[in-house]
Amino acid sequence: MKKSRSEVNSIRQKIRKLLLLLSMFLFPITLYYFSPALIINAGLDGVVSGSFIVFVCMLISGVFFGRLFCSYLCPAGWLQDCACIVNDKPPKQGRKNYIKYGIWIVWIAVVVFCYVHKGQILKIDFFYQTEHGISVTDIYGYIIYYGIILLILLPSLIGGTRAFCHYFCWMALFMVVGTKLRQLFHMPGLHIAIDNDKCVSCHHCKEVCPMCIDISDVAQRGDLNMECINCGVCVDSCLRKALTYSMRGKQK
Ligand code: SF4
Ligand code: SF4
Repeated sequence: MKKSRSEVNSIRQKIRKLLLLLSMFLFPITLYYFSPALIINAGLDGVVSGSFIVFVCMLISGVFFGRLFCSYLCPAGWLQDCACIVNDKPPKQGRKNYIKYGIWIVWIAVVVFCYVHKGQILKIDFFYQTEHGISVTDIYGYIIYYGIILLILLPSLIGGTRAFCHYFCWMALFMVVGTKLRQLFHMPGLHIAIDNDKCVSCHHCKEVCPMCIDISDVAQRGDLNMECINCGVCVDSCLRKALTYSMRGKQK
């Protein structure tokens, strides 16, 4: 029997949701380590901050695991999966997905300018501008915190499932760049593979996909879809067991 997106409840999906919940629980602590603004301040001060290190880790993880962070560890992912309860329509994609590329390029140019302008790295401070490693410690921190939560939720509430991931997320692009590097150097990496003999083209995998991707189509072409967050919901919902996680094989 076909399942709706919220009904896909394999052990793997339960663990995934638990990890997402935990990441949301820790968000007041981790907020500044994902901050696009803090790294600009760090650049002007000549500091390699926690966010700098986290973004580099995201890029490296993208090479091997694609956007796995988005589906297993991102607090914004959890928020948007909750927003699904209100609006689970597929967001308009296509050219709109490129908005985040424009945001990212401008932002990275500003970050690079700040570090170049400073001219030197004075120190590495993972806990830069946090208090004992904690991001949100006072009322102003909470104003920023809830502002960001609203910023993440609104696109999904208005535009549909995971619209913030599709249109605006600055972090996603580090993992996309990592995945592109994997493709460039023909390295193996995590992706969804298909057994064409088992697939009956029912497109149930598209109906349950939080990113609204027609993965059977993509996988049959041997392509990678840069919007895929490797959540495995499609793998766990395919009645024919045609989809699997795979590290092997080249991806176009
Ligand atoms: S795209 Fe961005 S907001 Fe969405 S899950 Fe990935 S890192 Fe989080
Ligand atoms: S295609 Fe599959 S693994 Fe990728 S985002 Fe959709 S459900 Fe998750």
